[in-house]
Amino acid sequence: MNSLKLSQTSDTDYLRSLAILYVEDEADLRLQMGQFLKRHCGKVYIACDGQSGIEMFRKQQPDIVITDILMPVMDGLAMTEQIKAESPATPIIITTAFEESRYFHRAFDLCVNQYINKPIDLQRLKKLLIKCAHTLRAELALRETEQRYHLLFKFSRIAIVVCKANHDMATTDDGFQCRIDDCNQAFLKMISLDNPTIVEQSNLSEFISVQSFELFKDKILPQLVSQDYSHEFEIELVRPDGSTIPVVAQTFLRKEEGGRPQEIWTVMLDISERVKIELQLREYQDHLQELVYQRTRQVEKARLQAEYANHAKTVFLANMSHELRTPLIAILGFAQLLEQDSCLSQQQRQNFHLIKQNGQHLLSLINDLLDISRFEAEPCQSVHDAFDLKHALELVEKMVAVRALDKGLEFKYDCPHQLPELVVGDERHLRQVLLNLLGNAVKYTDSGEIGLSIQQLKDKEFSFTVSDSGQGIAIAEQQRIFQAFYQTNGSVTHGEGMGLGLSISQKLIQLMGGELKLKSELGRGSHFSFTLTLPGIETETNETIHSGMAVLAKNQPAPRIIVLEADDEVHLLLKQMLETIGCRVCVLSNVEEFKLKYQYFQPQLILINIYMKDESGQYLGRSIRKLPTCKNLPIIALTASTFEEGQELVMSAGCDEIMLKPVEQQTLLEMICRRLDLKPQYGEVEQQPEQRRVDNLTALPIKLVEQLAELASMLELELIEEIVEKIASEYPAEASLISSLIKQYRFDKLLQLCHKT
Ligand code: ADP
Repeated sequence: MNSLKLSQTSDTDYLRSLAILYVEDEADLRLQMGQFLKRHCGKVYIACDGQSGIEMFRKQQPDIVITDILMPVMDGLAMTEQIKAESPATPIIITTAFEESRYFHRAFDLCVNQYINKPIDLQRLKKLLIKCAHTLRAELALRETEQRYHLLFKFSRIAIVVCKANHDMATTDDGFQCRIDDCNQAFLKMISLDNPTIVEQSNLSEFISVQSFELFKDKILPQLVSQDYSHEFEIELVRPDGSTIPVVAQTFLRKEEGGRPQEIWTVMLDISERVKIELQLREYQDHLQELVYQRTRQVEKARLQAEYANHAKTVFLANMSHELRTPLIAILGFAQLLEQDSCLSQQQRQNFHLIKQNGQHLLSLINDLLDISRFEAEPCQSVHDAFDLKHALELVEKMVAVRALDKGLEFKYDCPHQLPELVVGDERHLRQVLLNLLGNAVKYTDSGEIGLSIQQLKDKEFSFTVSDSGQGIAIAEQQRIFQAFYQTNGSVTHGEGMGLGLSISQKLIQLMGGELKLKSELGRGSHFSFTLTLPGIETETNETIHSGMAVLAKNQPAPRIIVLEADDEVHLLLKQMLETIGCRVCVLSNVEEFKLKYQYFQPQLILINIYMKDESGQYLGRSIRKLPTCKNLPIIALTASTFEEGQELVMSAGCDEIMLKPVEQQTLLEMICRRLDLKPQYGEVEQQPEQRRVDNLTALPIKLVEQLAELASMLELELIEEIVEKIASEYPAEASLISSLIKQYRFDKLLQLCHKT
């Protein structure tokens, strides 16, 4: 069989591909059939008797043999017997005359595939040949499949074991052994054997661990019974030397035609590498977990230490802030009061002004240092309160205008007329940034101009630009100047500042949601700009900002205020401020004193310093709230701290409001008026034209003068104040004279006046 191919598909193709051996002794028929066969088939070999037919067969190996029966030398059946012995698969068709039918039995014994009567029906012969070609083709396909299967089975890298299946698939009492019928080279290699006969005829149980065999029996066989295949499972193979190999396996059940279980096929894949890697991974993982655990503990320890250090730093800062600011605030406050004193000479006023200016500079340096440390110590937030943008900008403008004027610089302030009355944002931060940028503009500009320009870009967006025509900043320096403590060479010579202002400003602007940008050219000046979102809000109140001296409006009873303040200077300062406003003040230094005196004094409002040394602010607030009649009293907490969480604590401790130090007289007055429903009055109150001025007490009743003299000799400030209050409406000039004397603690002068009367 040399020419039949599986790729041929049509009958004509099949015939064309056949090689035929035709054996016939009758010359005419041989000629006629030879022509017919040559017309339809690929190759035709012709012989005239059985002997030459066998020789031709051996030489040409035809696909099909067609032969006559009765021939000289060797007949067709003898030849058939010989050919079938040598090539059982070769189809043989015999041509026979009717009278030869007695040979049929023998022919069938020889497995002759077909016969055809003489005279030969050519069409039938053709059909027979096609049928034989089909059979040949099917056999060829089968052989090819078998070859492939053998190759696959033999050389597959997956180990395959074929076991005999019990027909009922039952695990009998004497033990289900699973006899091995066949196995491939991969399996032999896996169990380190090279002789397949040792394995064949053995039981599978001899090559797998006991546990694995139990699993096989109990879990895998039931799966095979129900669905002809199992899921993947892991077992352990055991080599003859006792060593083991982990494998992943799967089994399949092969059944006979009738459906009876015949073979159990088990395919296995060596997973020793995978198991080894898994083991290593698990070890690494355990090691890693241990490492992570150790590192986490170290980090946690370090975090706790850092947190502790941070907390200590915060506490230190808060204390420092108080310790440094308290005396400075007292200095600034007294300088502010003294500056207003009408008795001062011009020179003295200037000196106080200088004290105030330098104090403020020192305060701003301390604040800068504290601010920058605070940024490092904790995440800061910006507040979102309503504030009067125009007023805030005007305050900045006023403060900077004086400094610009001092230096002979022109100050251009460009602000739109139409600004929302109130906007929501952080007024304190905005003011701090603008003052710092404008302060720098003044500092680093020797001649020319500086400017502040505000533009409303969109509904809520405002751009702020601070410009100057000063020394400018070299491009190489433009990034670095925003680093803390960085100063350019030129600026160090100014000797002012510490290189913190821009760093703080940048951080504050970022907190408010903006970004500080710089454009500058050396020798030509600088532009610092940023944009903020400040939503406007509608307001019904018609608050106005007043300038000049702020006091309580006349014809109102002086409110009684208790100040709880341990620090002597601050307490004196507050007392003077409150009295200037027109309040009656009782200053106490601790809560015990408060408990003793508050019922006698009957305060209407309490100011407490949250850094009282004997009580913490929160405890103090709560203790006062518990006292009878103090339940609904307004309590204002005074604090120099800008630490937000501190402020929250104070509020939670029962205080109604917080007033930041340094206290401004006008703010204090407005808060008192708001809380006690009183009216303020602004302007140069002491120099009101209609007020009559006196320098003696002769208009007063003699008895009252005697009483005043006695109280003055005992320095009874509060009782004298009560008298002043009583006579204020009838004798305003005298009341004012006495009041101004006792404000200056001039009891000696008051005594003199009383004696003169
Ligand atoms: P300080 O002014 O206290 O030194 P800043 O952080 O405010 O610190 O500024 C850092 C540096 O940036 C200054 O030392 C100065 O060299 C430079 N600088 C800031 N503003 C200007 C300006 N308007 N013109 C020129 N140089 C400036």
